[in-house]
Amino acid sequence: MKVRIGLQAQFFAMVGFAILAASALMVLFWMRQQEVQRTVESMSRQATDQVLDANLRRRADGTTGQLAKALANPLYYFDLDAVGDLAKSALRQPGVRYVLVFDADGNVLHDGTPDIPTYGRRMDDPLAFEAIEARDLHAQLTPDTLDVSAPVMVGDSRLGGVRVGFDRMEGREFQQGAMTALRQQIRDLGSRQLLAILLLSAALLTLGGVVLAIIQRTMVRPISELADSARAIEAGQFETELPVTRRRDELGDLVRAFGRMSQSVARHDREIRRMAYTDALTGLANRLAFREMLDARLMQLNGAGRQLALLFADADDFKRINDTLGHDAGDEVLLQFAHRISDAVSRIGGPEARVARFGGDEFVILVEDEDVRAAATRLAERLVAILAEPLVVQGRQVFLSTSIGVTLFPDDADGATSLLKNGDIAMYQAKVAGKSCYRFYSRAMNEAVERRVHLENELRGAWDRGELRVVYQPVYRLADQRLVGAEALLRWRHHEQGVIAPAVFIDVAEQSGLIETIGPQVMRAACGDARRWEAARGEGEPLFVSVNVSPRQLRSGDLARMVEASLRDAGLAPEQLHIELTETAVISDEAHASQLLTRLRALGVKVWLDDFGTGFSGLSHLRRVPVDGVKIDRSFVADVLRDPDDLALTTAIIAMAHSLGITVVAEGVEKEGQYALLRERRCDLAQGYWLGHPLEMDEFMTLVADASTAVAAL
Ligand code: C2E
Ligand code: MG
Ligand code: MG
Repeated sequence: MKVRIGLQAQFFAMVGFAILAASALMVLFWMRQQEVQRTVESMSRQATDQVLDANLRRRADGTTGQLAKALANPLYYFDLDAVGDLAKSALRQPGVRYVLVFDADGNVLHDGTPDIPTYGRRMDDPLAFEAIEARDLHAQLTPDTLDVSAPVMVGDSRLGGVRVGFDRMEGREFQQGAMTALRQQIRDLGSRQLLAILLLSAALLTLGGVVLAIIQRTMVRPISELADSARAIEAGQFETELPVTRRRDELGDLVRAFGRMSQSVARHDREIRRMAYTDALTGLANRLAFREMLDARLMQLNGAGRQLALLFADADDFKRINDTLGHDAGDEVLLQFAHRISDAVSRIGGPEARVARFGGDEFVILVEDEDVRAAATRLAERLVAILAEPLVVQGRQVFLSTSIGVTLFPDDADGATSLLKNGDIAMYQAKVAGKSCYRFYSRAMNEAVERRVHLENELRGAWDRGELRVVYQPVYRLADQRLVGAEALLRWRHHEQGVIAPAVFIDVAEQSGLIETIGPQVMRAACGDARRWEAARGEGEPLFVSVNVSPRQLRSGDLARMVEASLRDAGLAPEQLHIELTETAVISDEAHASQLLTRLRALGVKVWLDDFGTGFSGLSHLRRVPVDGVKIDRSFVADVLRDPDDLALTTAIIAMAHSLGITVVAEGVEKEGQYALLRERRCDLAQGYWLGHPLEMDEFMTLVADASTAVAAL
């Protein structure tokens, strides 16, 4: 772990270091001062020593020289008394310690004392030898004595000598006194210096402390306050109080800049929150905001015994508006739609009601009431009614209806996720029930949805398990009653549930996107099978296979490439492949579809519009989308014999198509009468149970191989 060293600690260390360095310098100075004191003292001592010694030496030389001269006669005559007098008087002089008069051999003759205890004794002290041998004044030093000797001469003959010992310590007391005084003075000086140094140190220390305090007040504290605020802001607390300052320096600038920055961050945060929680188009709460609000409400309500309802309102076929009028108009419709909902909710939804847009054309309303079921029913009825009233957009009347699903808390579920899911299921059921109505959620609904989910999962692996296969319903030409091709229809035999109707599973595949994998598989199988019919048929005109293509495949974009690859792999001629597109899929995005159809037709493939007549398009669409044929929906064919309107429409379609050079196919021919009528009205091709049921591949092969491929029933 890295140790964090704060600014304060750093300044503290810096000031501490400076004080330490200054103190070390002062101690050094102090020690140097001590040394100087000692040197001064010893030099003074040496100097006085030298002065004292020089004085003593001068006196000693004088005294000893005179004594030696004075002794010449007495010694010559060996007058011991005279010698003694001279010695005694010399000994009496201040500072003289001893006097020794000796003969030429160094034997003591007199020492100045009355009874001469040393008489006749030979001198053997350490200084004696040099003293005896001296031929002139000779001085020797011991620590406390100055020994000066001089020979006693008569003419050139040496009679002996004299030694006088002077006390070197004499005068030292004075020196001592002077030295003590000097030392005292030096010491006084030293302590004054020490005091000065101590005072200086104290001043330095105080200064350091003051500097630290100033740094702390003016820099460290504001910076750490800034750091605290920054941390708070980082944690999302924008309300934290910001440091205020009137300072006119860089730090003041920094604090002010920080203040401005954090205000702008807070502003952005509010803005982003607003954006994240509101729907841009309608200004209503969005899914996220609603979800949070719902979670909070459920938390409060849980255990409080209160109820709430969620209404899921979804515009019916809203995509049609976008596709036909454009997205701007679509937005305008949604806006008016949202206003109507908000209006209704604020009038009869109660004060607690909330509206949110969940995206697209889906709105969710939360209602609270004593009797929440009654309140939700009231609101749902009202919404269905007012949302069905026509809207005016870009000067055009637009009709839009709404399906509403209602779910109740806590009856249906007690968690937000389940409630939202239930609302969706209920809304879906309202759509299934015919749209423009409302449905309350029930568990049975949930089961239906679960079955659907289960079905989807089962369908996912169905092709690989071999449960899916393609059957072929023969298509005949009415003019000569010949077999000309077949429509490929997918079949699913589930391993447990048995045969499942295409009307059921195709829808599941379409909605789940599975059709995008299943569709190409059907296409490949159908092309391969059609190639094999050719071989079985031998001579004659080749049979076509028509394959249903779902709107989703149409949108996915690579349809043309997939068709091309299937044809190539099977080796089938493009003219033998027909593609059936539902009319609604084509007109919902006319521009895109036209482009795609042109590409497909350029390959040589024929395109038919399936279930023609059931969509919204009028016949006029046929002029704009390039198709080769239309398949009249079997609901019209079913009634041609009974309903003159259907007959008129069928006739009109045939005429119109022919005028455009388009083939007409009739589906669902179940009766001979229908067949005859269609033939009479010059319909080109027909298929239906009366002509032939969808057949397994091998059955169809038999039919193909049969030489008489005319209508079997005839
Ligand atoms: P569709 O394309 O309109 O197919 C014709 C439907 O009418 C078939 O139903 C066929 O069995 C049925 N039919 C034929 N003759 C008669 C008759 O005389 N009377 C009556 N009442 N019905 C007749 P099926 O096979 O149940 O298919 C239903 C729909 O499923 C098809 O309608 C088609 O839209 C879709 N479908 C089937 N196979 C595929 C496929 O491979 N891909 C795609 N995308 N959709 C498929
Ligand atoms: Mg079809
Ligand atoms: Mg059809």
